[in-house]
Amino acid sequence: MSRSSGSGLQQCPAAGEGRDGILQEQGQRQVFCGLTSIVWLHRKMRDAFFLVVGSRTCAHLLQSAAGVMIFAEPRFATAVLGERDLAGMADCNDELDRIVGELLERRPEIRNLFLVGSCPSEVIKLDLDKAAERLTAAHEGGVRVVHYSGSGLETAFTQGEDQCLTSLAARLPAKTDEAPSLIVLGTLADVVEDQFRRLFDELGIGPVAFLPPRRSDELPPVGPGTRLLLAQPFVGEATRALIRRGAERIEAPYPLGVEGTLQWLRAAAEAFGVEQERVDEVTAAPVARAREALARQGERLRGRRITFLPDSQLELPLARFLAAECGMEPVEVAMPYYDRELHGAEREALGEGVRLVEGQDLEAQLDRLRADRPDLTVCGLGLANPLEAEGLLTKWSIELVFSPIQGFEQAGDLAELFARPLVRRETLRV
Ligand code: SF4
Repeated sequence: MSRSSGSGLQQCPAAGEGRDGILQEQGQRQVFCGLTSIVWLHRKMRDAFFLVVGSRTCAHLLQSAAGVMIFAEPRFATAVLGERDLAGMADCNDELDRIVGELLERRPEIRNLFLVGSCPSEVIKLDLDKAAERLTAAHEGGVRVVHYSGSGLETAFTQGEDQCLTSLAARLPAKTDEAPSLIVLGTLADVVEDQFRRLFDELGIGPVAFLPPRRSDELPPVGPGTRLLLAQPFVGEATRALIRRGAERIEAPYPLGVEGTLQWLRAAAEAFGVEQERVDEVTAAPVARAREALARQGERLRGRRITFLPDSQLELPLARFLAAECGMEPVEVAMPYYDRELHGAEREALGEGVRLVEGQDLEAQLDRLRADRPDLTVCGLGLANPLEAEGLLTKWSIELVFSPIQGFEQAGDLAELFARPLVRRETLRV
């Protein structure tokens, strides 16, 4: 396997049979590792700090991926561990304790410190769960130290968030009653979270908590009576961890576009015994605004062909939105992995006639892309420039994870993100 700045080319065994009409492809993959998720997680949890225990490559990834997009004071860093044999591991633990001690002295406002594991063999040899326990005890409850893995050997891109949320799921307080409550799972931009909170209030659904929270001491209780509503399609492990703690998942599509958001809210309303007429009343105005905004963008997108290379796990719900609400024609929709529980409804909504692929065999996929020549290709940063050089228009999939795209008020902006490269090309041609 070769890796450079977190973007790995991974060699896997041969392809297998597909499920739900999805071709399973295995071979070389080009994806970012889970460390990338620190870029949006640290923006969300404002009193958290992410300390990657890794190599210079990891530090380079964080600097280059995050540096260009983040302008706030960084709340992430990399503790670079030099090469050691097993006999030197005690020194490694001492070094880690020293680095964490210095960091907490310098930044006393940190309430939650994530130790993020990575790929180098020295890091794999370290027991970071134990280190997190040791460090929490050493700092006498003033800071919660939690470990999760962002290693490129175990995680792709958005799976870093899933690992982070799974580590938090184990630390949520237990609920003391069985009264209904709602946890919305998966990072949402603050502006989107506020809009959803207002809609839930108007619908009489609550109490509502968002996970991850903005502040680390806002961890919601979980147990019987907790309903889980997924805001992101890549939080499967965290979902299962919360279900094991007594929560119940509300099945719904993801809140992308007018229809996705409406169905998402309808499912929540049903779970809380709220009449669908009330949902219609509360959503009438935002739905009308969103439809109007979408109509403007739809003119630019209708009939355009689009391919998704596997990267963010948002591929299925985005393709569903673009096909159903913007009139685009998905040619190939590839996703890093397919989890029937989390993605089955979106796959069904997309219908037949679209080539669906789970996993990646990079060269074969690029051959198909060159033969298809869609109007727009959604792909990772590493592939965008070479494809543009071949005359293929691209859209960075990572942008769709950073941007506020969920909910009614963002439906028009979401469509515009896809329209923009098409408009730019036409303007340049003129
Ligand atoms: Fe590279 Fe692994 Fe570090 Fe990610 S975790 S940047 S893949 S070495």
